[in-house]
Amino acid sequence: MSFRAGRVAKEGVHRRYHRFMPIRTVDRVLDLDPNELIASGKNLILLDADNTLLPWRTEEIAEEVTIWLDKARAAGLKLCLISNTRNKARLERLSKAMDIPFAVGKFKPSREMYDHALEKFQMKPEQAVMIGDQIFTDVLGANRSGIDAILVRQMHKNEFIGTRLVSRLGEKLIWRKLREAMEEELDDLPIVEPTGFFHRRIVRQFAKFCIVGLTSFAVDYNIRMTLQFQAQSGGELLSEKGGRWLVQHVPFMSGMTPADAFFPVAAAAGAAFAIVNSFIWNRLWTFRIRTREEAGAQFGRFVVVSVGGLVLNVLISASVNHLVQGDPKVSARIATLVATAFVAIWNFTGQRLYAFRPSK
Ligand SMILES: [Mg+2]
Repeated sequence: MSFRAGRVAKEGVHRRYHRFMPIRTVDRVLDLDPNELIASGKNLILLDADNTLLPWRTEEIAEEVTIWLDKARAAGLKLCLISNTRNKARLERLSKAMDIPFAVGKFKPSREMYDHALEKFQMKPEQAVMIGDQIFTDVLGANRSGIDAILVRQMHKNEFIGTRLVSRLGEKLIWRKLREAMEEELDDLPIVEPTGFFHRRIVRQFAKFCIVGLTSFAVDYNIRMTLQFQAQSGGELLSEKGGRWLVQHVPFMSGMTPADAFFPVAAAAGAAFAIVNSFIWNRLWTFRIRTREEAGAQFGRFVVVSVGGLVLNVLISASVNHLVQGDPKVSARIATLVATAFVAIWNFTGQRLYAFRPSK
């Protein structure tokens, strides 16, 4: 299974998946810092046993686990086992060996054991955190009780056959959502990503950004051309009719042909639609922002970046155009290419670090 450790931002996925979402995932319980848990307002750790603290069906508690449990206690955390084991005698032995009480009640994901533990320790749900290796029992039960969950990588491959065949299959589907919710925060985490050039996130984002750029060009071009050469109004071309009005009413256009006067309007309309097209696709697809919040502020910043790109485009085009002497057509082509490349980098960087910057 494609387990990945990291923090999870629930808001990154649809509400219907929230109850399956842990607040973070870790490779081993030992990776969690008890002091950090305390600092985040947690006072009670609810612990799954099988494949979280020890291999399924065994009673082999590793020394490092014992040390970690002691560290947690020393930090001031209360501990309680929440296990679905059918072997009550074994649970009692484990409880005794680790010196951790266990909650009783219906099996997870029922709320019973969670509620029992909260009552036993006189804690509110937000003071507790559940640590377990299964989404459909540990995480789901915790979320139903209003308790945050931390998903730990299954310690050992051995487990109950029903778990292996049914739950783990379902977990694969949830993991697709989980990864979406994790994506936004990857930059802050010491996670080793695949090292190949095309696996790097920024490279994938830039490739998507370029594809979006092409679609925006198509949108711009088609709207511009349609308005200028096809759109009709009252039996004549819109560009003729609108252009005539402009020539009559806008002082500096008085000497122009109607078509020339109308062209900036068609170009502006095309550019406006292209900006909206780029904003929508880069937001949802390139930078994968799934929350509705902040869309307005992001659009404002996006327009600022785009206008900056436009100014840069004009400046670079104008200066490079003068650098290349000789054939004016070649010169214009080179100027356009250089400007497009620079503006693409400007827009990409601006969108990544400014317009769609992570909120907080
Ligand atoms: Mg387990």
